[in-house]
Formats: sequence, C-alpha cells, structure tokens
Amino acid sequence: MVLSAAMDYRLPATVVPTRYDLRLEPDLVAATFVGEAVITVEVETTVTEIVCNAAELAIHSAALTRDGSVPIHGSITLDEAAERARFVFPAAIAPGEWKLTLRFTGTLNDRLHGFYRSTYKDAAGAAHTIAATQFEATDARRGFPCWDEPAFKAVFGVTLVVADGLAAVSNCAILREEPLGDGRRAVRFADTIRMSTYLVAFVVGELEATEPVMVGPTPLRVWCVPGKKHLARFALDVGAYSLDFFERYYGLPYPGDKVDLLAIPDFAAGAMENLGAITFRENALLVNEAAASHAELERIADVVAHELAHMWFGDLVTMAWWNGIWLNEAFATFMELMAVDAWKPEWKRWTTFGVSRAAAMQVDGLEATRPIEYEVRNPHDCRAMFDLLTYEKGASVLRMLEQHLGPEVFREGVRLYLERHRYANAETTDLWRALGDAAHQPIPAIMDGWIFKPGYPVVMADLDGGGGLKLSQRRFQYLGGETDSGQRWRIPVVLRAAVKRGYVERRLLLDGEAASVELPAKADWIVVNSGGHGFYRVRYGPALLKKLAHAAMKIAPVERFNLLSDSFALAQAGLMAAVDYLDLTARFTTESDRNVWTALNSSLAYVNRVIPAELRGNLAALVRHRLAEKVSLLGWEVQEEETELYRQLRGDLLRVMGTLGDDEDVQARAREAFARYRDDESSLDANVLPAVIAILAAVGGEAEYAEFRDRFKSARTPQEEQRYLYALAGFRQAELLGRTLEMTLNGEIRSQDAPYVIRSLLASVYGRGLAWEFIKGNWQAMARQYPESAYTRMYEGIAALVSAEWEREVRAFFAENKIDLGGKTLQQYLEQLRVAVAFQEREAEALGAFLSRQKSR
Ligand SMILES: [Zn+2]
Repeated sequence: MVLSAAMDYRLPATVVPTRYDLRLEPDLVAATFVGEAVITVEVETTVTEIVCNAAELAIHSAALTRDGSVPIHGSITLDEAAERARFVFPAAIAPGEWKLTLRFTGTLNDRLHGFYRSTYKDAAGAAHTIAATQFEATDARRGFPCWDEPAFKAVFGVTLVVADGLAAVSNCAILREEPLGDGRRAVRFADTIRMSTYLVAFVVGELEATEPVMVGPTPLRVWCVPGKKHLARFALDVGAYSLDFFERYYGLPYPGDKVDLLAIPDFAAGAMENLGAITFRENALLVNEAAASHAELERIADVVAHELAHMWFGDLVTMAWWNGIWLNEAFATFMELMAVDAWKPEWKRWTTFGVSRAAAMQVDGLEATRPIEYEVRNPHDCRAMFDLLTYEKGASVLRMLEQHLGPEVFREGVRLYLERHRYANAETTDLWRALGDAAHQPIPAIMDGWIFKPGYPVVMADLDGGGGLKLSQRRFQYLGGETDSGQRWRIPVVLRAAVKRGYVERRLLLDGEAASVELPAKADWIVVNSGGHGFYRVRYGPALLKKLAHAAMKIAPVERFNLLSDSFALAQAGLMAAVDYLDLTARFTTESDRNVWTALNSSLAYVNRVIPAELRGNLAALVRHRLAEKVSLLGWEVQEEETELYRQLRGDLLRVMGTLGDDEDVQARAREAFARYRDDESSLDANVLPAVIAILAAVGGEAEYAEFRDRFKSARTPQEEQRYLYALAGFRQAELLGRTLEMTLNGEIRSQDAPYVIRSLLASVYGRGLAWEFIKGNWQAMARQYPESAYTRMYEGIAALVSAEWEREVRAFFAENKIDLGGKTLQQYLEQLRVAVAFQEREAEALGAFLSRQKSR
C-alpha cells in the first residue's frame, strides 16, 4: 500500500492514549531532565508494535502492563528524522486498556521550544536558570514521548521533582508536595481536563507570584522572576476582566481550576495558551502602567485577552488537525478585540483593528498567498500557518460574518459550537453548522469563498450614468494589473451615501460579477464598505473618488483609513498613479485619528525605501508639509482631557517628523527634552518618550549610542528594554549599526529579539545594505541560534531591499542555499520585493519629477 504524503506524518490510530501520568525531574544546573511517562492506552486492534512521537529524547525502557500483570518489555527504535519512537513487543498485544511505561532523559535546550532553559541575570549580576516549555505546535515530543497530534486528547497527571526553593508550575493547581530528603521535593498537580499535548506546560525556577485575584472560584496570578512583581498590576486587571467577560460571552465556566500568567525571560512567541499556565515574553505581560505608552499597554491587554479567549476556544474545543489552526487563532483574535473593546471602549479597538486588517490584505494580495484554511502535512508547514492570514484575515472575516448575522445570533452560534464539542475536537464545518443553526441560514454559502479560497476582491464602484451606482468585483492582486482571474466572492456590501438631509444606507450581498444599486436622491458622496468591516478593497471611479476626497474629513475614521490604505494598494498595483496618491494625502493634514496617520506614515516610509537617496531630502520636505499643521496643534505637552489615543498620536507624529521628516526643530526639541528627562523622568509623557529616543538615535552619534546601549542593558521594565534595543537599529552611521549587528549573534541581544532587530535594520534605508551583507555572511549561525519562528520572520525584511540588483542577489541567495521557510512564506517575501521593485521601475520618473517640486532644505 502506498501511503499518501499526508499519512506519512500522521500516527496510526490503532493505539490511542487516554491518560498520561508524567514525572519529570529537571536539573537546572546540568540543563538536563529525567522523565517517566505512564501512558494509559486503548489498544483498538491486536498489534505487536506501538508508534508515538519523540524527538531529542533518549528512551531507556518501554514496558506494557495490564491489571498488574508481568511487564512485557519492548524494543525501542528512535527515528529522529520522523520524530518518532517505535516499540516492538515480543508477543501480540490484545485489544483493551494497557499501561505503557517509558523511562527517558533529555536536555533542556536553548532553542526556546520543547522543554528548554531560559536564563537571566539578577540585579547583582548573578545568572539564574528557569526551565520552561513551549510545545505548540509539535514540540511536546521534545518534553516526553507522546501522541503529539491535537486530536489525541488525554488527561494529564503531572508530577515535577524540583530542588527546594524553586517554584514549580503546571496546568493545574498543586495537590500535594512531598519532600524527598535529598534537597528536592515532588510536586503533584491535579489532573487536567481532557486536552491536547501541545497545551501541557511545566515551568520551574526561582519565580515569585502575586497574590491571587479571584474571578468567581478561579484564582488568577502573575508569575515573574524576583523583583518584578510590581509590574504585574495591569495584566491582573485586564486578565480578571477578560476571564469574567469570556465566561459570560461563552456561557460556560472557565474549564480549569486556576489561571497562572507567567513571564519567561526567553520566549520565542508572544504568549502561549497552555491551559491554566499561560506563558508570555516579559514585554507582553509586565509593565509599569504609569511609564508606558498607549501602544505598549494595548499590546499587553490584547495578548492577555487573546490567551484567555483560547481557554475555551482552542483548549476546551480544539481543531482536529493543524489545517484548522485558523479557527483557533482567528477566533482568539476576534474575541481578544471583543474583550478589550468592552474593557476600554475609549481605545476604539475595532477601529484600530483596521491596521491589522490592512496588514493581512498586504499578504493576501499576493499571488503566493494561501487560503485561510490550508493543507498542513508536516511540522514545517504547520509553523508557517502562524501568520497574518490565520490571525488577522481570519479575525476580519469572522467580524464581517458577525456584523452580517448580528452579534447576538453570532454569540448563540458560538455557544452551541462550544457546548457540542467541549473536551473534544472540531472542524471548520462544525462551526458553520452551529452558526447556521443559530442563524437559520446556511453559512458555508457566504463563508467558503473567504476561508477556502486565496485572496480577496476589489469592489469597483462607478456611477452608471442613470443616477445609480454600478458595483463590480474581481480579485485584487498587486502584480495582477487589470486582469480578471474570474474568482468571485459573496461580499456583504454596506454603502452609505450623503444626501441633502443626512445619510442613506444600503446593504446588499454582491455575489455575481456586478450589480446595480439605485440611489434614492442625488448623492453628494458615496462610501462603499461603510463601517469598514468588509475584507475587500474599493476602487472608486474618478468622479466618485474626487467627491469622496473632498469630503474625506466627514466620513468615519475607519473609512478614511480604508480610503488611504486602499488607494496606496492601488498605487502599488499600478492601478492608481503614485503621485495621485501623494496628492490625496494632502487632504489629511488636519487628521486627528491615529490609525489614519499610521496608514499615511507607513506609505511614506514605503516610498522612502523606493526612491533614490538623492530624493530623500525632498520626501522629507513632503513629510513635513503633511505633518506640520497637526504637529504644531498637538505640541509637546499633554493637555487635560486628552484621550489616550490622542497622546499616542502625539508620540507617533513627533517621531515621524523627527526621523522621516528630518525636521530640525523637532530634533532640537527632542534633544532638550531628553536632557531634561535624564534629571527628571516625570518631565516627559510616556507616549512621547519612545519618539524622543527614536529621534535621538536617528540624529545621534557615538555618545548617544553608548548611552542607549547602557540603558538597554540596565532597563528597569521590559518596555524600556525594548525601546532602547530597537533604537540601536535606528542610528544612521554605518559603524554604529555594525555594532548592533554584532550584538545579534554574540549573546548581547537575546535570541528571542535578535531576528526582529535585524528585520528592523532591513527596513531602514541606512541599515538595509549592511544587514543584508551580514545575513549573507552569518545566516547559518543565525539558523542555529535563533528560535525557528523568529528566524523565519527575520527574512520578512528582504522586501525592503528595493533595487533590481538586490532583487537578483536575494533570489540567487535563497536558491543557492536552499533555504525553505515553510509553506509559502519565502515566496511571499520574494513577491513583496517584486511588487516594490516593479513599483520603483514604473514610478521612478513621475515620483522624481513630483518630489523635485517639493522644496528640499
Ligand atoms: Zn493564539
């Protein structure tokens, strides 16, 4: 029998685990661990061998028993390439329940996956070690032999043997602790619910916890290395609110017996939803609220809410296989926004989500995109699924569906789904069935095009000459030009037209190639994708665009954001002249919404990477022109009654004015402000301080570099550490940037951050050439040292190497070294570079002429 490629990676279901009794003895000094797993298995048909997953483990014995019978010892074969262990027994094993006892040893690795070690220095400079786990997607097999696929759910009874004085945390509450008389103790945890292997967690080290906050019967705590407990308040607040919010929304109690939120000094991802023992990188959990910017606080609120949303969606009900990971992540992202929006309505989280939606559209507008739900065969492909399409596109289309069905109906469907599949696994179709039952309408008809097909549409809107509006659709592609792929979607379209006495709204489902919409009276202007929830772009005919541009300040912020974001995408695709886009930006000089500015600023930074160096001064002049009015209105001082978002806008615009805009006044004031800050930290608003640091890096030299490097190393909060770290990538002198690059490999910058620092250097017009040369010389060392997911993301930065020559070099580099980033990731990065170079070639002359008219200094 020939196995299909997919089958090669799936374990046989002839023997199925129901329960694991795990005993692990990590030795933090030797960085090793000893383990025993007693796995209760159900043998379905008579077998002579048992196959499960194991990687980088030495398995010393395997024995089967039944009802206290004499153990049957099996031979052990490890296949490292397949990450499997095979146990062959001398006699046939009859169907029924058996206990498989495995003794094994392993190493606490430095790759931030499996059972790994994280190190940190205390205030006195002494080094300490923590042992922690990161098992998603397929690394539980590095911690203990197991059936490491999400559908093999089981109960876990964990015992950790740790040195006295060390804290031990796992998924459930501690049942009892027994001293072993050798300076160690055995910590026995309560049984978990039936759950997947990737959600198991162990953390051991000198950690301290806050007092618990009770959410109903559930204690919620934050854990961190000693001396940082005072940075936990904010996370506890948003954590307690979210936990309560989700219990109400889902209509089901929290499925565990406690919630611990743990800050780990070395952590590859942002956070991980292990049931009851959620792990985070420090800057996603710990913060001094009074000294943090809005952006920094928002990130923590998002991540904490996201992980707690997973306790039901992902942990209680789990995807059957990794192709359904979008269901997990899209839903948690969607629910994170719901919870944070309810907690802090003034943050306008659904409006600010526009930025994330647009980021997903950037990837999904590529030929090399993939459907949200996509075939996953092996672990490598699985890692590539943790991307913008899974999280942001997934959450966007769920939001679109929620708005289409109505929030109450949608919630009813979600409740049905969770109730039907709790403690088990589910597929996308199960969610559609539950939502369909709640809504009394077929959901797949609307959703399949968004989930199972790649890309998204651009809706073209034009006046039909008879007082009506003609809408048509086709797939949007950056490299597609005017060609029509023939692909169609069912698009819930919402239109809003301005008429004499206010507005008229129209809702329709555009499911064919085109539709005509009658307009009630002569409309002054029309906005398509009213409310901004639709996952599509809009291309207005010239007359409609002109009217809408004039009325830009009258439409909603998210609609203005979409107008700019869509227009710039059209320019990148060659469907709008770049100079027409730059003209359009002149309408936004009095803009007050932070997200609209984010769209505008990021498009100007993109143009900066495309134009030749001699035009950068002219672009800076354009930047100053666009920002000047708002910057002077905002000033440097916080005014009473300003919203948090408005304060953040001040920081954002000062930063762009002093860096991309090279504004000498702002740069001089930044220097003064930082001089004052050295003496009096309260003299600068927390939203402005990061901007000042970025500006000083841009204009700074040796002295600033030395100071920022010191401040990075002696930072008191994770946020402070990040600001100074990334500032080291924001200098302009090659010699200084060279030092930053050295730090990415010599251990001065943690491997969890180093790849992102390089990505940030690639995005800088001053750093990209250096960073590229550095990568070419060191990529093998990077591949060895960096966590795999972050190593992959580092290459995202290659899209900023905008020149035909660089593009040739980049392509040759990946071809020659056979670097595979999993799934379609590399193809996406290369295509983004192609889009930028094509834009450069197409627009060089027109941009040159246009920018030359901007007065350079
Ligand atoms: Zn998640």
